[in-house]
Amino acid sequence: MARLIGAHMPTSGGFGEAVRKGSEIGCTAVQVFTSSPQQWRAKKITDEMVEDFLAAREETGLDWMISHDSYLINLAATEEDLRKKSMEALIAEMERCSKLRIPYVVSHMGAHKGEGEEKGLKRLTKSTKSVLAETPEDVSLAMETTAGTGSSLGYRFEHLAEVLEGCGWPERLVVCLDTCHVFAAGYDIRTEEGYEAMIEEFGSLVGLERIVCIHANDSLHPFGSRKDRHAHIGEGEIGPEAFRRIVNDPRLAHAPLIVETPDAETMHEVNVRRLTEMLS
Ligand SMILES: [Zn+2]
Ligand SMILES: [Zn+2]
Repeated sequence: MARLIGAHMPTSGGFGEAVRKGSEIGCTAVQVFTSSPQQWRAKKITDEMVEDFLAAREETGLDWMISHDSYLINLAATEEDLRKKSMEALIAEMERCSKLRIPYVVSHMGAHKGEGEEKGLKRLTKSTKSVLAETPEDVSLAMETTAGTGSSLGYRFEHLAEVLEGCGWPERLVVCLDTCHVFAAGYDIRTEEGYEAMIEEFGSLVGLERIVCIHANDSLHPFGSRKDRHAHIGEGEIGPEAFRRIVNDPRLAHAPLIVETPDAETMHEVNVRRLTEMLS
């Protein structure tokens, strides 16, 4: 099967429209928000919305889908109210995805807000376990590697391994690797050696087969900056060679690439094409 490459598509025109537009600009995989990422409340998913979404997937043949959860969710929150609210929101997100036949939800790993990583990871593990227990079997949770801004967790592969270990390595707990984030977090994927070291480390701590999606974003900020700003493919601090390597790495061929770069309206098509043209 050919490598799947796509983009985070806006859903302002509906879920079906996100797929049709994605197909038009050359996507073979699509990421969406199923609710507004800055709000707790989500609109109900109607049968019509589901039908249109499934029809668009059938019509275009573009059928690989993933969703991204709300930015407000913090599964490691120190305040119990916020942690509960976060779990409820993520559970609702996964239920919406089950309805929409989206098999994966990408989630950031939360922040410890000054309480320390050890305690933060414990709370995150506890929350993750409950969420998995209370959600539909046909939707998996993909923990996203983060840049490590502020007190964010998930910027070291050890963090992912710890949550997986604490949850008992369930099949429904998977990973989304973000190129901009790992680079900003201190994994130097610019060079062949750095990339191999990253792959080696991820492979031994977590397992490459757990990567279900790769967020392909270049980085506006320099290596190790722990800052999260995405740049167009090949135009940031990571550069084109690293993306060429990733796109053609057979060890990651099972994981579709999704761009989350700026200027979606005009540049998604360009970034998807850049990655597609790197395939050899
Ligand atoms: Zn990402
Ligand atoms: Zn990011």
